[in-house]
Amino acid sequence: MAVVVDVLKVVVGIAAFLAAFYLVARFWSMLFGDARAALMGGDGSKRSGDCPCGCGRSLGWQKRRTALHAMDVQVGLPILERLAASLPRDDPDRSEFVGSHRYGAGMARVMLKMAHGEQVLTAAIPSPRDLARWREGTNVAAAVLAAEDPEWIADYRTSLPTDDRKLVDSMVTTGTLTLQQRR
Ligand SMILES: [Zn+2]
Repeated sequence: MAVVVDVLKVVVGIAAFLAAFYLVARFWSMLFGDARAALMGGDGSKRSGDCPCGCGRSLGWQKRRTALHAMDVQVGLPILERLAASLPRDDPDRSEFVGSHRYGAGMARVMLKMAHGEQVLTAAIPSPRDLARWREGTNVAAAVLAAEDPEWIADYRTSLPTDDRKLVDSMVTTGTLTLQQRR
């Protein structure tokens, strides 16, 4: 019996270690790796240079990449805001979009702080899963808005720089596909 318990302890220990390793690896790839392309639909620039938020800071490529994540999230925020505003007050979807907007704004704020070298609470750092989930919901919101209010999406798109226009396009395309798969 004691041997079985010891073996179990070892197995649980190895499993915990692997799980922790996996989580750290995912975190790392989200913040510094190639996950931007997968999560955001963008191509992710590895160049160092000025912070994309316009604060004038000069960032290394890792921090700049984190800032680019934040900026990508910010592109989705007006879409959620617009969609929420278009729904009646008592529509449950409305509070969902309002919540998504708040959540996205919080993630963007934390990621920008990280990029700027400011201290953030570890618990506040969004996981790749948090980001991917939020992105999926926001893509769907973009697809719904593009179908219901194409003029607004067109105007919004025009107001953005080229890279962000491409991001909006890919959000609408991906969201439309997600909706089709759900049907
Ligand atoms: Zn900045």
